[in-house]
Amino acid sequence: MITNLTEQIEQLQSRQISSKELTLSYLEQIKKHEKTINSLNHYSESIALKYAEEADQLISSGQNKTLTGVPIIHKDNLCTTDFPTTASSKILDGFIPPYNAFVVKKTIQEGMICIGKASCDEFAMGSTNETSFYGKVCNPYEINHIPGGSSGGSAACVAARFAPLATGSDTGGSVRQPASFCNLTGLKPTYGYVSRFGLIAFASSLDQIGPMAQTARDCAYLMDVIAGHDPMDSTSSTKAKQNFIETLDNNKTKKLSIGIPKQLDEIDFDESVMKTFDETIEQFKKNGHDIKQVDLAMLKYAVPAYYVIAPAEASSNLARYNGALYGYRAPSDTLDEMYKKTRSEGFGDEVKRRILLGNFVLSKGFQGQYYEKAINVKKHFTFEFSQIFEHTDFLLTPTTSLKPLEFGQFTDPIKLYAMDALTIPANLVGLPAVSFQAGFDGSLPIGMQLIGRHFSDPELLRVVDNFQKETNFHLQSANLK
Ligand code: GLN
Repeated sequence: MITNLTEQIEQLQSRQISSKELTLSYLEQIKKHEKTINSLNHYSESIALKYAEEADQLISSGQNKTLTGVPIIHKDNLCTTDFPTTASSKILDGFIPPYNAFVVKKTIQEGMICIGKASCDEFAMGSTNETSFYGKVCNPYEINHIPGGSSGGSAACVAARFAPLATGSDTGGSVRQPASFCNLTGLKPTYGYVSRFGLIAFASSLDQIGPMAQTARDCAYLMDVIAGHDPMDSTSSTKAKQNFIETLDNNKTKKLSIGIPKQLDEIDFDESVMKTFDETIEQFKKNGHDIKQVDLAMLKYAVPAYYVIAPAEASSNLARYNGALYGYRAPSDTLDEMYKKTRSEGFGDEVKRRILLGNFVLSKGFQGQYYEKAINVKKHFTFEFSQIFEHTDFLLTPTTSLKPLEFGQFTDPIKLYAMDALTIPANLVGLPAVSFQAGFDGSLPIGMQLIGRHFSDPELLRVVDNFQKETNFHLQSANLK
């Protein structure tokens, strides 16, 4: 019953299947496997079916749009009025927002079916989806391995076929890295392309919401729904929205110039990741594209700069959680005690670590040593990328240096932070970047990343769409028992 998204759209519109039937087939899959995977913080059969019935009415009266009747799962850091929104934190346990995030509103207006909310690392901080208050999420391809993070729940949901589409958020790689680990395509759009209104903020200057799906085409369908200007987000771009599906269908890919940063030589890669990278390069060459080395000298400063900027912004963004307004409030006698106890009991270790780090780097007297230096790194990165993109269309790298880890493989947070070296640069400069399926190490998926110029998002997906016409990694499903 569960088919690919393009087929689902055709079948829904020609009324070969109803949205209710389609939604029920996904719910059945959830009931079968969610106990093993643990990727959903909340889901509701009755809410999903209510939306499915409405969608079926829209379809039968001819008022449907392209994705009317198609199920979706949103990351649990996107505000929803139908479901609690917790960012996988105890401090927001039970919080039901009074409004929907822009992206959620758009999917509802399209007539899509929100089945539930996906687990993530607490407040989207992490790379393994082990920091969720609701427990770790398993990788459907190999259940004793991490699905990646922080949008690991979203990735696991699509990989386990709980929905054809999911949203994630990406501050330093959280859409791309779990997409890579769960054999999906995941796009981090250009900063400002998708409104952050109603996204629980982690590091506001880096956060972007993006689609996660089986193919670039599926991501394009969702981008056509969620992209575009929103006056409620002051950083939302006013640039006219491009049509993603049209770009995929109409434009022929010209010969591209693809850059490979020579600084990749300084990174310690898993052998299978390097092998997959070489094979991907060969595939691009075979299609007539030019591959050349480029200089990204700032690469080694990406992780240190990110771990100053992101915690600095997080420490400020998370100051609002003190028991007064949202979610959890620890029983206490005085106001001070309420703040202290609520925050001590409500936040997990990783979030506390980031708040402490953020407060430290922002403390009086240290600004010049940390924050200003990190902002300088960001400026240098912007300059380097603009130089590269003068004569290069896209940059190709592995999405991460390592294949999906086994649970507990790393206990040192610094080692986990280092894993983000290749995804962070796009966030620091606000560039679009996509991770796509490129190979396997046994049953463990391996993804590659393409980074493009600002607002080249549709072209990025077109390049991946073409790659997916010639390869079949994206067709290899998880073998869930
Ligand atoms: N792994 C990175 C971190 O822990 C990225 C997280 C993200 O993109 N939300 O901060």
